[in-house]
Amino acid sequence: MKYQSTRGMDERVGAAEAILRGIAPDGGLYVPESLDALHFDARAAVEEKSYHDLAVRVLSALLPDVENMDTLVRRAYEGKFAGGEVAPLKAVGDRYVLELFHGPTSAFKDVALSILPQFMTQSRAQRGEGGETLILTATSGDTGKAAMEGFCNVAGTRIIVFYPDSGVSAVQKAQMVTQEGDNVCVCAVRGNFDDAQSGVKKIFSVCADGRLAPHGVELSSANSINIGRLAPQVVYYFYAYSELLRTGKVRWGDAVDFCVPTGNFGNILAGYIAMRMGLPVGRLVCASNANDVLADFLETGVYDRNRPFHKTVSPSMDILISSNLERLLHFAGGGSEVKDWMAQLAADGRYRVSDAVRAHITKVFAPGRCDDEKTCETIGKVWREHHYLCDTHTAVAWNVSDRYIEKDRPMVVLSTASAYKFPAAVLGAIGGDLSGDEFDQMERLVELTGVPMPKNLQGLRTRAVRHENCIEREDMLAFVERQVKRA
Ligand SMILES: *Cc1c(COP(=O)(O)O)cnc(C)c1O
Repeated sequence: MKYQSTRGMDERVGAAEAILRGIAPDGGLYVPESLDALHFDARAAVEEKSYHDLAVRVLSALLPDVENMDTLVRRAYEGKFAGGEVAPLKAVGDRYVLELFHGPTSAFKDVALSILPQFMTQSRAQRGEGGETLILTATSGDTGKAAMEGFCNVAGTRIIVFYPDSGVSAVQKAQMVTQEGDNVCVCAVRGNFDDAQSGVKKIFSVCADGRLAPHGVELSSANSINIGRLAPQVVYYFYAYSELLRTGKVRWGDAVDFCVPTGNFGNILAGYIAMRMGLPVGRLVCASNANDVLADFLETGVYDRNRPFHKTVSPSMDILISSNLERLLHFAGGGSEVKDWMAQLAADGRYRVSDAVRAHITKVFAPGRCDDEKTCETIGKVWREHHYLCDTHTAVAWNVSDRYIEKDRPMVVLSTASAYKFPAAVLGAIGGDLSGDEFDQMERLVELTGVPMPKNLQGLRTRAVRHENCIEREDMLAFVERQVKRA
């Protein structure tokens, strides 16, 4: 099974090559030539006994030419997740919460970013070339830290992370600027996440002229546009189902609904891929915060980014261009029109999909939105009623799932971050005293709830700052070139 671009170029490449490139030469995203041709045995997969075995099975199907999958999965996950479970499923009230935040940075992106560097080193070895992969990543907060943690001191790789200077929480910022490792670099950009992401995309297109090759450097991306980021996320949808099966909550074939707090559309798209691989998925509920461009799209078939950008208490979802939606348009039968729609998005910030594509999408995806006020109310309510502490992103999904939950059909809410990453909003929501800074608030959250603070977030305030760059978005390319020449 080969990969092709969503924008229609003829070239087909193996998964290993697609992972190293990140983005296709025509600017499109890599997708499997055919999801139906995978002939994946979903039923056998959910009967696997461990997350490890399930991951090997799913990832071998999606990335068939990446060798040594068993070793790569072990290196990625063994001993790296608190409590030893990558994705524990908890029953909370009338629904289930799939906790994806027990990795090294307490955000769900750890699940994919723990294994992406393994895929890259393996893929480079298979290609038989020397040189270095330089990862460029724009982050709305969580990706950057998780990527640096994943790539830190992995041989043959280097990473530069750009984050919006005023778009991340104090805790997220502290996590990033204290990052250690000889091959990592972090830089603030004046602007919002979309500015940083557009800047990174521009660097990729400018550097397609081969200007970094003389330095032995090949660019790649750790954003969820990389297929090596997306594939590992498919695994936990199967895992959630296998847990429901194991505990007798479903019988094979019963539909399960998933509600996903959505930004760049990577996480929820992985659920769609799981479904196309044969997992009995009922609905995929796409939960947005006040930046509800996706909710509007699902309701109208028009994607329109021309709207105010809202800073919310769930900053990792403050996104107006959801890159991975392009893959869904392809899977939904968009064909050669996908390229036109993306051109319209670039030119006018807006496109309308065909009725056929819209019908395919709305059969599975359901929209919902939740503003900051409702988000905080939800955190308070879930804490009072179930003694369960959820972060702001998870609360958006919990709230939206209210509207879709059905009797006799499990609803799984994906929980994407530890509450301790967003202490001000969470503490305020449960009625705590907000005096002091975010670090004081984290301590108070421990006292008030008794929920333990993840180890990686303890002592953050006093860790040495190692990265202090802050630049204009026009200067991102020059910054990268300087870094490349310096080494
Ligand atoms: C990245 C992120 C999201 C959004 O996930 P997408 O794959 O971009 O849709 C949601 N919650 C948290 C905490 C995140 O870090």
